[in-house]
Amino acid sequence: MQLPRSGMSRQDIMARLKREMAEDAPWDKGKTFFLVYGVDDDHIEVLRDAHSLYIQTNGLGAGTMFPSIARLEADVIGIAGELLGLPTAVGNITSGGTESILMGIRSALERTRAEKPGLTAPEMVVPVSAHPAFQKAAQVFGIKEIRVPLTKDYVVDMKAMAAAITDRTVALVGSAPNYPFGTIDPMKELSDLALARKIHLHADCAVGAFALPFLRRLGEPIPPFDFSLPGVSTISADIHKYGFGERGSSLILYRDAATQERAKFILDAWSAGPYRTPTMAGSRPGAVVASAWAILHHFGEEGYLRMTRAMLDATRKLQAGIERIPGLRVLGKPAMYVFGFTSEDSDIWAIGEAMAERGWHIHRQATEPRTLHLVITPIHVPVVDDLLRDLAAAAKEVREGGRDARRGSNYGAH
Ligand SMILES: *Cc1c(COP(=O)(O)O)cnc(C)c1O
Repeated sequence: MQLPRSGMSRQDIMARLKREMAEDAPWDKGKTFFLVYGVDDDHIEVLRDAHSLYIQTNGLGAGTMFPSIARLEADVIGIAGELLGLPTAVGNITSGGTESILMGIRSALERTRAEKPGLTAPEMVVPVSAHPAFQKAAQVFGIKEIRVPLTKDYVVDMKAMAAAITDRTVALVGSAPNYPFGTIDPMKELSDLALARKIHLHADCAVGAFALPFLRRLGEPIPPFDFSLPGVSTISADIHKYGFGERGSSLILYRDAATQERAKFILDAWSAGPYRTPTMAGSRPGAVVASAWAILHHFGEEGYLRMTRAMLDATRKLQAGIERIPGLRVLGKPAMYVFGFTSEDSDIWAIGEAMAERGWHIHRQATEPRTLHLVITPIHVPVVDDLLRDLAAAAKEVREGGRDARRGSNYGAH
């Protein structure tokens, strides 16, 4: 492939891109259950309009050329802080849950370095169910990551967590909820442990931040998981998951300005003059800040509550339907609309493949036991009956055919 000698017209480019897209997963039909969080066309237009308007802006200039980006970002942080138990929380918009987690862990490492000047070989203690981004952070910052096991309820084993702490531990991690099982770690106990041992606790609410607060307002028994727990130092909160923002929008939230300050990058000795960034990025898209602000204001509390109600009802119906299919069972007690289910009598991945043959894209998880994983969004609400019908047929086919899975897990593969 070479750069074309003469440029293509807009029409030709769009026609070509549409052809390229033709074999991608049909996420807008409600038949894909990971990587995309869909609502409807109207919501995409709101994102697109806000993004387009700000497409040439640069968040690196939020303090100088583009003060509106700083204001919009502050609004978004304020909204998230109010939802997550601390209206005075500070933070930044990042490119995703992974970058938010990097920032939380950087703050933790710098805090411990300040408190323990001779610190060598830093460590962090993480549930085995926590997102791979924590291992990424560990590799980037030179921290040894210790992964501890779960209880039979698929939440972190607090005894193992406490036992893994050493005087080199810079961070503890809990997920509210984790991705594989949708279960919430014992955040209150983690907070108590973090305070008692004077260690930074990062609450990973990538999935839960824009879901759990609304579920609680609908009367669901959501335990404290956020800044309402005094031991929680930082929170990752993805706008591009249940905030329904565009891909590439997440938040890192800090309990206070000092915790945020420790995560910042500062180089005063650059020949061009002092250079400071609050996140891993240098230039960052103001367009993403604008679209994040736009989507939160587009839905408002009523919109998120309405979608939460619909997703909750669809999830309950789906889980009850799954458990009525012979052999199938939901794992643990998922807190929201993210969960895994397994089969007692067949290879669940083979059922996943039989579902793929019926056009459903479902994540085959390498959990113990193996599971299929569903992330329910508003786009799935109308397809619950179809999904259950095909799942019953796929489960029957695999059970009667004695079929084993032919392919591996299907997430994050390149
Ligand atoms: C998605 C996810 C992340 C990471 O998010 P990216 O936006 O994909 O980088 C972190 N934690 C949990 C629990 C997640 O589900």
